Amino acid sequence: MDRIIQPVRGMGDILPEQMACWRRLEDTAREVLAAYGYAELRVPVVESTELFKRSIGEFTDIVEKEMYTFTDKSGDSLTLRPEATAGIARAVISNGLTRGAKLRVWCMGPMFRHERPQKGRYRQFHQIDVEALGFTGPDVDAEMILITARLWKRLGIDRVRLQLNSLGTPAARNAYRQRLVEYFRDHEAALDEDSRRRLGGNPLRILDSKNPDMRALIDAAPLITEYLDEESRLHLDTLCAYLRETGVEFHLNPRLVRGLDYYTRTVFEWTTDALGSQDAVCSGGRYDGLIAQLGGEPTPAIGWAMGQERVVALMAQSESQPPVEAPQVCLVMVGERAQAAGLKLAEALRDAQPDLRVLANLGGGNFKAQFRRADRSGAQLAVVLGDNEMERGVAAIKPLQGGGEQTECGLVELPARIEQLLQTR
Ligand code: ATP
Ligand code: MG
Repeated sequence: MDRIIQPVRGMGDILPEQMACWRRLEDTAREVLAAYGYAELRVPVVESTELFKRSIGEFTDIVEKEMYTFTDKSGDSLTLRPEATAGIARAVISNGLTRGAKLRVWCMGPMFRHERPQKGRYRQFHQIDVEALGFTGPDVDAEMILITARLWKRLGIDRVRLQLNSLGTPAARNAYRQRLVEYFRDHEAALDEDSRRRLGGNPLRILDSKNPDMRALIDAAPLITEYLDEESRLHLDTLCAYLRETGVEFHLNPRLVRGLDYYTRTVFEWTTDALGSQDAVCSGGRYDGLIAQLGGEPTPAIGWAMGQERVVALMAQSESQPPVEAPQVCLVMVGERAQAAGLKLAEALRDAQPDLRVLANLGGGNFKAQFRRADRSGAQLAVVLGDNEMERGVAAIKPLQGGGEQTECGLVELPARIEQLLQTR
């Protein structure tokens, strides 16, 4: 026998029994985002490698070691997107979407990063990604956060906590960066391998280290707060005031940085204590320089991305899990004539009620076997067609859940009768 083909490491299947949570998350996000005036868009999964290098930054973990990059048959270097903001920024420029106008958009889909797979960390994962372009804020910064807060509420998720920081203008950030490099150079012997590598290109990222041995050194590091320019400080203060006004709890964390280079001013992250060490469920921030850096008109912007696997894991822990959608009607058809008539009958039922969930018992079998399958399907009603019913031009209707009398009905009247029965159950 041939060897069984294994899934690619870190790339999982989302099975039917998990889909109820996924659907609920995605449907809720779609509704909530529409309620704030955000329009969905879709950008390609593959972009030129150059786009990610220029936006995310050459010295980030993502670009240095996590990208799925390949040369295609035309000799172009392409990359499976590790995140969505770069692609959206590219799409905004390619399609001239802003040109001074404001834009609120979102997208959803798979992202790819060659990380070490573990619970909550995969090589293919999914994000809901939201972006607002053309707004200088901080009102839109507050709106971004309010959207996420509303999503948590709608999804019944409460073990999340909002952390907030400002990285200041590029100048303030650079001054801070220099100070950090000095500090960590003075303690170089205490740095782990990752941090030593980051010291050269991306020293802010050292603050984001997940290594507990680095904790004390990071806790004693200088804070961005001392380097913040006046305007960024005011921006952050106003955002905090808006959040207090709208009742969103937050925690200022001057050590919060982001793993991507394009952030300026506001950065935020929702974390949870319910998922172990992969605790970030949604992260975002302002990227005022990115569009210009990619060759577009200078356009202020802010966005966030939510890790769907992690949010689904939180939903699965909460009590309000959505039920799996069982069929409403299961068609039991025994005998050749019944089988042929059954398919037609199922079509008639779906014609009459387009959202009716009808499961046809395909593949035949005797009454006992078919009823067992009908029971297992979770359907509320069985519609039964056997030789006996065929001869008389009727179908039997048997309630499966919650009991009740078996009745009979002419085939023509059946769709209306089913609709009526389901309404009164
Ligand atoms: P982390 O610190 O956990 O590596 P990150 O800062 O790299 O996260 P972002 O690039 O900001 O994450 O992505 C936004 C969100 O996407 C994260 O908050 C997280 O929920 C999710 N995410 C990121 N990487 C992965 C992954 N490899 N597998 C699953 N979810 C992920
Ligand atoms: Mg990461």
